[in-house]
This record gives sequence, C-alpha cells and structure tokens, in this order.
Amino acid sequence: MTNIWSEAIQGLQPRLGAQTYDLWIRPLELRQVQGQRLLLTAPNRFMKEWFENHYRDVVLDELRARTAQDYHIEIDISAAGEASPNAAAAAAEPQSEPEAPPPPLPPLPALPPIGLSSRYRFSNFIKGSSNELAASAAWSVAQEPGARFNPFFIYGGVGLGKTHLLHAIGQHIHVHRPHLRIVYQSAERFMNEFISAVRFNQFDQFRARYREQCDVLLIDDIQFIAGRDRTMDEFFHVFNALYEAEKQIVVTADRMPGDMQGMEDRLISRLNWGLVADVKAPDLETRVAILKQKADVDRIDLPDDVALHLATHVRSNVRELEGSLVRVSTFAALKNQPLSREFVSEALGVSAAPAQAAPISIESVQKVVASHFSVRIADLKGPRRHQGISRPRMIAMYLSRQLTGASFPEIGLRFGGKDHSTVINACKRIESIQSEDSELRETVAALRQLLAHEPAHAAQLPS
Ligand code: ADP
Ligand code: MG
Repeated sequence: MTNIWSEAIQGLQPRLGAQTYDLWIRPLELRQVQGQRLLLTAPNRFMKEWFENHYRDVVLDELRARTAQDYHIEIDISAAGEASPNAAAAAAEPQSEPEAPPPPLPPLPALPPIGLSSRYRFSNFIKGSSNELAASAAWSVAQEPGARFNPFFIYGGVGLGKTHLLHAIGQHIHVHRPHLRIVYQSAERFMNEFISAVRFNQFDQFRARYREQCDVLLIDDIQFIAGRDRTMDEFFHVFNALYEAEKQIVVTADRMPGDMQGMEDRLISRLNWGLVADVKAPDLETRVAILKQKADVDRIDLPDDVALHLATHVRSNVRELEGSLVRVSTFAALKNQPLSREFVSEALGVSAAPAQAAPISIESVQKVVASHFSVRIADLKGPRRHQGISRPRMIAMYLSRQLTGASFPEIGLRFGGKDHSTVINACKRIESIQSEDSELRETVAALRQLLAHEPAHAAQLPS
C-alpha cells in the first residue's frame, strides 16, 4: 500500500506542479493503512487543513483511478509541529520536543517592538477568497515563526491588507513569545538607517540590530530598495544571516519577487525560497464584511442595503472602502440623518439605483468566461456539446443569471437563441455540481470576482 500511496502522489506531481507538490503534498507522511483508511501525519494544523481543503479530493481521485477503490484520508498533526494556539503561557515556554534542544532563554524579555500597531490584528482581518492563502499562511507563520514558510513573501496592490498582515504577525508573536526580538521596518526606513549608519560610522550597531539582535524580521514594501545597490547588498547579507540562523523573515511588496525591476537576481531568488502569497482585491461579500466590521468598531449604524450599495460602488481597495464609509457617515451625521442609499449616492456621486443595476452585461460574462477557459465566444453561443465547451457555456449562463438580472429567455436569446429551459437546466446543473466540487466552486468565485472588478469591460468587443 505504501507503494500505491507514493506512486499516486508522485503521479500527481506533473499535474500539480513541483512547487505545489513540494509545499503541500510531500511533507505528508503515510503512517498507517487500515483497510481503506489512510492515516497521514502533517507537520502542522495549517498544512493539514490546506491539504484537506485543496488537495485531498485530487489525491483520492488519483487513488481511485489507480486501484478502483475508494479510500478515506485522515490526518494527524505531528507532535513536534503543533504549537498550542491559545495557551499564551505555554507558547512562550520552550517547547519540550525530544529531538530539538529547547531554545536558550534570553536574559531579559524583549521590549515591545517599535512601530507595530495593535490596530492591525488577525482578529479584525476579514478573510475571503482574495486573501485566503496569505492570511492563513500569515497565521501559521505567527504561530511557528521560523519553522515553515521562511521567508514568507506577501504581495499585492495598494490598500489590500499587506501591512495589516505584517503587523498582525508581529503582534501575535510578541504576545505569545515575548522573548523573541521582533524588528518591524519599512524598506525605506531600513535604507535610511543603513545610510546614516554608514555615514556616522555606526555600522556595528546597525549590524547588531538587524543581524544579531533580531529573531523575527518584518520588512514592509521591499520594492522600495530595488535599484539601490548598496542597500540591496546589505539586505542580502541581513537575509542570509537571519535565514541561516532559522529566524523568521516576512517581506511585503507591491508585486512578485521576479517582477520587481532593478532587484538583484540573487535577492529575487532568495525571496522566492519560501512561500509567496498574494492578496487580491476583495470580492463583493468580503467588501461587505469589511464594511460591517469597520462600522461596528466605529459605532456607525450601517443598514445592510447601504453596506451592499457602498461595496458595489467602491471596488478598488480596502483603504478606499473604509475611507468612503467614514466620508458617508460623516456626511449623514452633519445632516443629522440616518445613513441611507441616497447618502451614499450623493457622497460618492453614483446612482442610488438598486445593486442589480451594476453594469455587468451578458457580453462581459461571455467574454470573461471564454477567455478563462480559452474557448471562443462563438462556441459559447453555438450548438457544440463537447464537454470542453458545454461546461464553460453552462457556467456563463449561470453567471449571467446570477449577475446581470436578465431573464432565462433573454439569456437563451443571447446564447445563440437557445430555449429558456436549456438555460434553466444549465443553472441547476452548475448549482448542483458546485455543491460537491470545490474546484468548480473556486472557479466560479474567481470569475465572479473578475467580473466584479471590471464592470463595463469591453462589453462592446466583437464576439
Ligand atoms: P497595503 O499594505 O496592502 O497597502 P493595508 O494593510 O495598509 O494595505 O490596508 C489598508 C487598510 O485596509 C487598513 O486599514 C487595513 O486594516 C484595511 N484592510 C485591508 N484588508 C483588510 C481585510 N481583509 N480585513 C480588514 N481590514 C482590511
Ligand atoms: Mg502597506
């Protein structure tokens, strides 16, 4: 059986890609086989859950394909890998692992890290499909700094929560492992400190601060040092020193390591060594959840339809979303009236019409779906029943129904004059497949998100 397991997972390697395989599949160990039950061990809870949510079904399919039998997978967490998440005191103690000697206790507890804001916590970070990997991995890093995902690299556009996650990691580590010395710094400050250290002959202090007296290094907006040769060089040495000492390094940037122009290749390669995760613009549901939380904190009475209205019109990033809530509620308070859709519309200069009026057209749905599945729009509208086309067609019909407010007959018409019953069946099929197939669910969510962010995009493109 052990052979079947390793053959199955190795067989999956080309399909999943080497990085995914190394990161999520390889670390699992087969412990025991009891009939059709496979007992595995994962290094930590995060990896167990990520595997269960994203890869378990694929592995089971592969096993079924190879053995014509249905297996169950159960996963334990290896004793050494699990930090106790809610026992602060226990977490601060050296762990009693038989293999590894306990870390030496420093003579004095470290001072609270400078520059970390307690405003940014995990507890007030809203998770959604746009930031799931980044947020879950950040949590894992915060619980077991240096153990896994080192370095951890978070990238994404402005105002999408990178700095928030960085602070949350720092805060969490500081609270649960107060003996660890955390250095949080923007790359710009890092550069300025480096320059003045060189200029005022204080390089020893600089080196001590970043290389010797640092257990966790959090650097925000690393793209800033791209093209600044001496700073990059210094950061390279800091990185190496900390990495070799198995200290946790977390870095954020506005783009992927390889896309930062002017960044040294050797740095790019190191930044890619660990886990690279992105944050995307949040989808509508996440935007609504963020607004509601912000309203709670600021004690703003925010009715559901107003939240939806705001979230529909402010799509670009979270900072703007929060800003618009503040603006609108101030506006309402000045006029001494409750928050309503009309206020939102007046303050933002948009129409107060219900959210269904959001400008997503059937054409944009067809275009986005066709390009995602690499099929032609003409095929979506055509009669071919080949799986590679009928599946995308059904998804496009389903999304058209969900997002454009068009009727079944109208959708049928725009898909090459199909009967409304065809559209109804397609919608039902996609709904029922989604309830079982997480991959399809994710695809549909991703398409929805694409559409939410590019409202009127090229609806007029020729099809
Ligand atoms: P970035 O560093 O990516 O430019 P920030 O981390 O500064 O963005 O986020 C901008 C604002 O949006 C902050 O106030 C932050 O708390 C908030 N924010 C971003 N993402 C989320 C989220 N998922 N949940 C709650 N607040 C968020
Ligand atoms: Mg930031």
